[in-house]
Formats: sequence, C-alpha cells, structure tokens
Amino acid sequence: MYNFFIVFNTINGDYMKHYSIWREYNSKILYPKLDHDCSCDVLIIGGGITGISLLYHLRNSKLNVMLVEQNRIGLGVTSNSTGKLTFLQNDLLDKIRSSYNDDICALYLESQIETIHDICHVIDKEEISCDLERVSSSLFTNQEKDIPKMKKLKDFLIQNHISVSLSKDDFMKNSYLYEVDDTYLFHPLKFLYGLLKHNSFPVYEDTSILKMKYSNGFYTCFTSSNQIRCKYVVLASHYPYFLKPYFFPFKVSLEKSYLSCSTYSRKPLSSITYSYPFISMRTYHDFFLYLSNSHSISSDTSDVKHFKDLLKKTSLLGLHPDYLWSNIDIMTGDGLPIIGELNSHLLIGTGYNTWGLTNGFLAGKILSDILKKKDNPYISLFSPKRSFSSISYLDSIVKNMSGYLKGFSHSYKCPHMGCGLIYNEIEKTYDCPCHGSRFDSTGKCILSPSNQDISISNK
Ligand SMILES: Cc1cc2nc3c(=O)[nH]c(=O)nc-3n(C[C@H](O)[C@H](O)[C@H](O)COP(=O)(O)OP(=O)(O)OC[C@H]3O[C@@H](n4cnc5c(N)ncnc54)[C@H](O)[C@@H]3O)c2cc1C
Repeated sequence: MYNFFIVFNTINGDYMKHYSIWREYNSKILYPKLDHDCSCDVLIIGGGITGISLLYHLRNSKLNVMLVEQNRIGLGVTSNSTGKLTFLQNDLLDKIRSSYNDDICALYLESQIETIHDICHVIDKEEISCDLERVSSSLFTNQEKDIPKMKKLKDFLIQNHISVSLSKDDFMKNSYLYEVDDTYLFHPLKFLYGLLKHNSFPVYEDTSILKMKYSNGFYTCFTSSNQIRCKYVVLASHYPYFLKPYFFPFKVSLEKSYLSCSTYSRKPLSSITYSYPFISMRTYHDFFLYLSNSHSISSDTSDVKHFKDLLKKTSLLGLHPDYLWSNIDIMTGDGLPIIGELNSHLLIGTGYNTWGLTNGFLAGKILSDILKKKDNPYISLFSPKRSFSSISYLDSIVKNMSGYLKGFSHSYKCPHMGCGLIYNEIEKTYDCPCHGSRFDSTGKCILSPSNQDISISNK
C-alpha cells in the first residue's frame, strides 16, 4: 500500500526499490480526508512520531483533540529513519556540553534514557508488535582525532552511572569503539500504528493546513476547502512551515543522509560513528541497514553522486542493497530539540538532530503535559524560548540563504519560498535545497515545509 514508487533499474544495473524497508508494512488503515468545517480544543498538524505520540499522551484528557496529516500517517521523516532507540547519539552529547555545560548535558542524557524506558513500557503495556529488540549500541571511529574526544565522552557516561564496555565487531575492525547496553531497535511505522490502536480522536489524512490566523484567543486553520477553529495548535509538521526562514526564532540547518538495506544475515548490531563522515548501521531480521554521506542540503545537491558513493561503500562490505532511499532531518545550533510553547497557544516539537524517534515521543509527553497544565522536568531544557548565540544563528541563515540562491536557476519552484527544485534521479523526486520540501514524480508534496503540491508539466 505504501509502495507507490516502482522498482527502478539503478546506476549499476541492479534492481532496487527506492523507498525505505519500513514502507513494506501495510497497516490496512486509511483515514478520511476532512470535508467539513469543525472546531476542537487542540489541533495537531502532522502525523509523524511527534503528532502520533502527542495524540497517544492526550488519550485520557478531557480535551477535544484532532490530528490532520497532509499525506499518509508516518510517511514523512519517521518512516525513512533507521529505527534505533539509543542514547549513544554520535557526538551530540559533546555538542550540547560545549553549547552549555555538563549539567545540561546530563539532563538531556537522562531525558533520553527515561524516554527509551517509557517507549518500551508503552510497547509492552499496549502489546504493540513493532519488532522491538534489545541490542547494545556501539560508537566507533577510524579517525585518530576522535579518540581523545570519545574517551572523554566515555568518562562522562561513566560519571552518569552508565556502564560502558569495549567491544569488537568484524564490520568495525581496526576502529576504536565501545558500547552501552539498554538500547533498542524497532520498526518505526509499526510502532506508530500500534500507538494509534487505542486512539478515539478524529484523524484526517490527505488534509493539508495551508495557513492559519489568530484572533480573539482562537486559531482558524485553513485547508483547501474547510476551516478548523481551535484554541491550541501544535506544529508536529517536522519543519514549522509557516514560519518564514528569516524570522525563524531558532538556528537550524537541514541534514540529508543516504540509506540502503540489503539481505544479509548476521548477529544483531546497532552501531554509529562518533563524527563526520557519519556511518550508521543496524540489523533488521535478515537485513542490514547502512547509512552514509550525511551533509547539509544547502551545501551539496548531488543525489546521484551520494547514492553511487553509498553503493561503493556497501559493495566493499559485500552488501547488495534491495532498498535505497534518502532522508532529511533538522539540526539545531545548540544540539537540543525545540519542544514547547512558541507563542500564545501555539506549540511545537521539532529539531531532533536525527534522534527524533526518542525525542519525538518525548515531545508528545512534554506537549501533552503543557496542554494538561502539568509540570514536566524537561520543559525549560527544550523550550523554544531558550536563548541562542547569535553567531551560530547567523551561520544557519547564511547556509539557508546559499541554498536559496542556488535553487533559483531551476524550473520547478517550491511553493514554500519559491526556491528552485532539484530533480533527484534515484528516488524520482523534486527536492528543495533550501528548506527540504520534497515532491513525488506526480508533484504531490511528500515532505514539508511546503504544504502544497506542484504541477508537473510534460516538458
Ligand atoms: C537518515 C536519518 C535516520 C534517522 N534515524 C533515526 C534513528 O535511528 N533514531 C532516532 O531516534 N531518530 C532517527 N532519525 C530522526 C527521526 O526520524 C526524525 O527526527 C523524526 O522522525 C521526525 O519526526 P516528526 O514527527 O517531527 O516528522 P515527520 O515524521 O516528518 O512527521 C511530520 C508530518 O507532518 C506532515 N505535515 C507537514 N506539513 C503539514 C501540513 N501543512 N498539514 C498537515 N500535515 C503536515 C508531514 O506530511 C509528516 O507526515 C533519523 C533521521 C534521519 C534523517
């Protein structure tokens, strides 16, 4: 059902599917398109891990909630991830430590460990079949310069009562590496649909919010033909599409990575490099996922080059990919996600720095506590109102601007900010180099910030 893309003949002549392995899962659930005006207390915009987790956390509240998704539930960034639940998140802890201090970093670490336990608890309690597997996570490097940093990180983890052990694996021979336990692997789409099993709030698919207005304490959100009046709006749309980039209250950049999945049987593995160039690997039943070639979307738009390079790396490991795809996430300047109240009655969860399966679920808990007026220990840590340093903020604007200018020469324009779209020959999509919107070959928007389709002519 999810596989509206066809199998394609790739650059080296092998047949591969150009969508993620998670999309083979068919939930058999279709939600209707909104076809009437309505009102609610809370409107959640976006049906990825953030929106669905929030819906789940609000299930017993007295609030009248609804969720709208412009495409299909889960088909955004969530279904293109690697499906790891880990607190060993490459060099992110060090980025947070250098932006703030040890205490803030320890609080972030605690939030990740606690959320991984919460997710496992929910999977158990709700009997969600999502291929959850407890697998140690390892961090590795082949670069001399990373070793002292990794040793310092190891000391920090030990100070925070985490046991770290040295490990060995054929895939990372000649590397410096260590591992931690109590981390997991799962199937992200099966998890989302498992959370939806007990939902009784209305959910609409194929329903895009095009604009919104605030007046007299209420928002009116507009689809192409209907209006939704609500007291609270939650932006769970990945990129907060309605905020203009130059008035963006936070510093962010967009990072794209390339992934493959090959039939390959081996013992369970979850592993990632400490720093760039990132490599992330995991097993899934008799498959092996391999991610590489991460880069900022505004600095480099050559998808074919990156896919070819990925194939070269997988072939050196003896892997023959059955699936190839790419994915984009939002990186924040200080390394912390952006979760909380932006403005009066306007809430947001985004900026997960490629660790949004844990952080998206956590956002669902924090945002539901804010809406229920309950306290939560992480509200100030992730607040969108925390102060940012102006240098990195400017840096992100310059990065976004350079993509914006680069995109001008191309013929199809992104409805979000008019940036020229670049054709991704491998996945057959039109991709925006400025803010990451993507459109399939028919022009349908498959990734925000755009909330509109484009019209493809036969040129
Ligand atoms: C290569 C890669 C690998 C990753 N692997 C992992 C991992 O192993 N572990 C981990 O923790 N994290 C991982 N992540 C990060 C994680 O996948 C994301 O941070 C997370 O899925 C983002 O979830 P989301 O709900 O914010 O966004 P999405 O899943 O994109 O959901 C947002 C939804 O909003 C909808 N929407 C947008 N605009 C509108 C609108 N106007 N109206 C209605 N709906 C709208 C979209 O269609 C979309 O479905 C990875 C990221 C990348 C890039």
